[in-house]
Amino acid sequence: MSKAAVIGGGISGIAAAFYLQQYGVDVDLYESGDRIGGRIGSGCTGGRWFDFGGKNIGRKYRRFREFVTEIGGLDFEYFGFNTSQVINGRVVRLNKEKQRLFNILRVLSLAGFGGTLKLLPLLQAVHKDYGQGFLNTSYFNAIADRFDKESLASFFPKSCADHLVRPLTVRMNGAEPDECFPGNFGSNLALVLDSYEQLQQGMQGMLDRFQAYAQSVQLLTRHHVRALGRSNGKIVLDYTHDEKSARAEYSKVIVALPAVQASALFSGTLPGLAKLLGQVRYYPVAVAIVQYREDVFSSMQRAMVFDRSTSLSNAGAYGIHDLDIVRYTFSGKTARSGITQEMAPEEVVSLGEKIIEPYFNIGKNNRQFFLYKYITPGLCAYSPFHYRMLEELNELVKPVKGLFLTGDYRRGASLEACFRAASETVDLAIQGDKAV
Ligand SMILES: Cc1cc2nc3c(=O)[nH]c(=O)nc-3n(C[C@H](O)[C@H](O)[C@H](O)COP(=O)(O)OP(=O)(O)OC[C@H]3O[C@@H](n4cnc5c(N)ncnc54)[C@H](O)[C@@H]3O)c2cc1C
Repeated sequence: MSKAAVIGGGISGIAAAFYLQQYGVDVDLYESGDRIGGRIGSGCTGGRWFDFGGKNIGRKYRRFREFVTEIGGLDFEYFGFNTSQVINGRVVRLNKEKQRLFNILRVLSLAGFGGTLKLLPLLQAVHKDYGQGFLNTSYFNAIADRFDKESLASFFPKSCADHLVRPLTVRMNGAEPDECFPGNFGSNLALVLDSYEQLQQGMQGMLDRFQAYAQSVQLLTRHHVRALGRSNGKIVLDYTHDEKSARAEYSKVIVALPAVQASALFSGTLPGLAKLLGQVRYYPVAVAIVQYREDVFSSMQRAMVFDRSTSLSNAGAYGIHDLDIVRYTFSGKTARSGITQEMAPEEVVSLGEKIIEPYFNIGKNNRQFFLYKYITPGLCAYSPFHYRMLEELNELVKPVKGLFLTGDYRRGASLEACFRAASETVDLAIQGDKAV
C-alpha cells in the first residue's frame, strides 16, 4: 500500500498509525495542535508531567498494553480504586480495597432490590465475556433494541440511577443518566469490572516513546485538516499549516477524530455523513490538578464522588503516592451550567476546594501549584440506538473508496476501546473490505 494519512493525533490516531506501521505502511499523521496526544494531553510543572485526560489503564486493556510493550515497555504502578461518595451530605464508603464481599454488599445496597435485578444480567454479560464491554456488541445491541427509547435514568430505579449509575456516566461520559442509554452501558460496566494502574512516566512518557518508535510515521503537527473530498479515485485533504492552505492526496485516509470534529470535515462533501456524526454527543469536562503543602488524602480514603448538587463530579489523589496532589474533575449538568470555558482557572479551583474542604485536609493547606484545562469536546456520551447509527455510518462510508473512520464513538471512549476500534479499522483498510 502507498502512504496513508491518519487525521488526528490523539490516542485513536496514534493507534491507527501504530497498526498501519505494523502492516508496513508509511503514514502521514495530521495533528492540528503543537503536540500529539489530544485528550491524553499533559501539562508540565516542576519537571514533572501531569495528565489531564485518560491515564488509568485497566489490567484488562490488552491491546493498549501490547502497544506499550511493542514501543519499548514502560513501567506501570498500582492506582487502585478507593472511593467514597457523598449522599445527601453523608459520606458513604463505596469500596474497600481487596474486600470483595464488602464491595458486593455495598453495590447491592446502593442499587436496591429493583436496581440489582436490572443490573445483574448486564454485569454478568460483561463478566462472562469482556468483549461485550464495548460499543456495538451482540448482547448490548439487543438491549438497545428493547430499551433505548428510554434513558438510563428511567431504565433503573431512581436511587440506583442516582447513586450507582450517575457516578459512572458523569465520570466516563460527562453526562447524566438521563443523557445516556442502556444499549451503551456495557462500555461503562467493563470499566467497573476492571482494576487500574497508571504509567509511572505518565502519558507523556508513552507519547515520547511512540515518537521514537514510529519510524514510518511522519508527524505533521500544526496541520489542521479543513475538509475531505474526492478526486480521481483519491481522497483529497484540504489543510492549513502555519496559516497557509495546502492540499494532499492519498489512496487511504483514516479519520481518527471525535465524531463532532469528523463531522465538520464532511459538511461540504458528504452532508449525510456529517449529519450522522453530528448526532454523537460530547460533553465538556474541566480538570484541575493541584499540589498542596501537606497531604490532602489518607491512604485509606483517596477519592470522593459528589452528587448533582455540586459542579465537582469527583476529586481524587493523583496517584497512589500523591496524597498531596488532587485531581479535580468537573462534569455533568451542574458543572455545565456553572463552569464555562471563559471562567478563570483560579475561580474553578477555589470552587473545588470549597466543595471538598468539609471532607479533606484543605482549609489551611497551602497550594504549591496548579494546572488546569477545560476540555471540549470532552467526554463522549454516544447516542440512543448507537449501533444503528454506526451501521448507517458504515453504509455511507462504504462507497467512498479509501476512506475509513475510527474514534471514541466506534467501540467506546476508553483507551482500550480506542485501540480496538483503530485495530479493526486498520484491518479493514488493509483488506480493502469496509463491512464492519
Ligand atoms: C478528563 C478525561 C479523563 C479520562 N480518563 C480516562 C481514563 O482514565 N482511562 C481511559 O481509558 N480513558 C479515559 N478517558 C477517555 C480517553 O482519554 C479518550 O476517549 C481518548 O483519549 C480519545 O482519544 P481520541 O484520539 O479518540 O480523540 P482526541 O484525543 O480528541 O484526539 C483527536 C486529535 O485530533 C486533533 N484534531 C482535531 N481536529 C483536527 C483536524 N481537523 N485536523 C487535524 N487534527 C485535528 C486534536 O487536536 C486531537 O489531538 C478520559 C477522557 C477525559 C476527557
